[in-house]
Amino acid sequence: TDDGDGGRGRATGVTYEDIGGLDDELDLVREMIELPLSEPEVFAHLGIEPPKGVLLHGPPGTGKTLIAKAVANEVDATFITISGPEVLSKYKGESEEKLREVFKEAREQSPSIVFFDEIDSIAAKRDDGGDVESRIVGQLLSLMDGLDARGDVVVIGATNRVDSLDPALRRGGRFDREIEIGVPNVGGRREILDVHTRQMPLADDVDIDRLASRTHGFVGADLESLAKEAAMTALRRSRRTGDGVPVRDLTVTRADFETAMAVVEP
Ligand code: ATP
Repeated sequence: TDDGDGGRGRATGVTYEDIGGLDDELDLVREMIELPLSEPEVFAHLGIEPPKGVLLHGPPGTGKTLIAKAVANEVDATFITISGPEVLSKYKGESEEKLREVFKEAREQSPSIVFFDEIDSIAAKRDDGGDVESRIVGQLLSLMDGLDARGDVVVIGATNRVDSLDPALRRGGRFDREIEIGVPNVGGRREILDVHTRQMPLADDVDIDRLASRTHGFVGADLESLAKEAAMTALRRSRRTGDGVPVRDLTVTRADFETAMAVVEP
């Protein structure tokens, strides 16, 4: 479970402002998830089943977890995280039990989002996996089918390898929508860099547009590392020179970003 306040779930603290790029992707996720969580009665009124799940797929570090947390926060839903590898190893022999518990808790604390990270590790095609995996997939399918039509529990699955997922999970009524969260283009990188330098005292010579165009292949997590590394470089520089620059006057310069570029690789 992710929590900012020691309680379960609510208030992940992540907002839509913390997500760079991904405007279209975020719109799709919001359209699928916000309404069922905040106004589930709309679906009953229309006589249709609300979506139960959304699958986010794409390379690591591109913002899948971030999107899930932001939506949970914005609709004030409980956020429960569960990861595939953890279910397999930590709850060895009790994986199905653990899944049932998670869904039970999600119902009790609804509206809720169950975020299932690295879902491919348990939900590989049943004929590829072993016995254990196939039992766990079976349990997950039945739990998703059992989510009632009220719509106030939604599952967001995340995976880097959508093709290896059991096709049964990708059928309608389970993960109803698949949204690709890809590697950002130059505009996306610019926005992500903005997010991660927003609180930083940047020197006038720092050119974020130029950085964005020089970071082809960097994903959000890489750009975050780059910004942090630049800030740490600034800090080290000020300590080393010992020129007594007071902390409040310290800025992160273009040279600091150059140093960081040499260290951080996509
Ligand atoms: P994984 O598959 O490894 O779980 P993920 O796609 O879920 O990856 P996140 O955990 O969302 O990736 O991203 C890691 C960190 O990278 C975030 O906490 C955030 O700081 C930064 N980040 C990633 N994508 C973005 C983005 N689009 N905008 C701003 N920050 C981002």
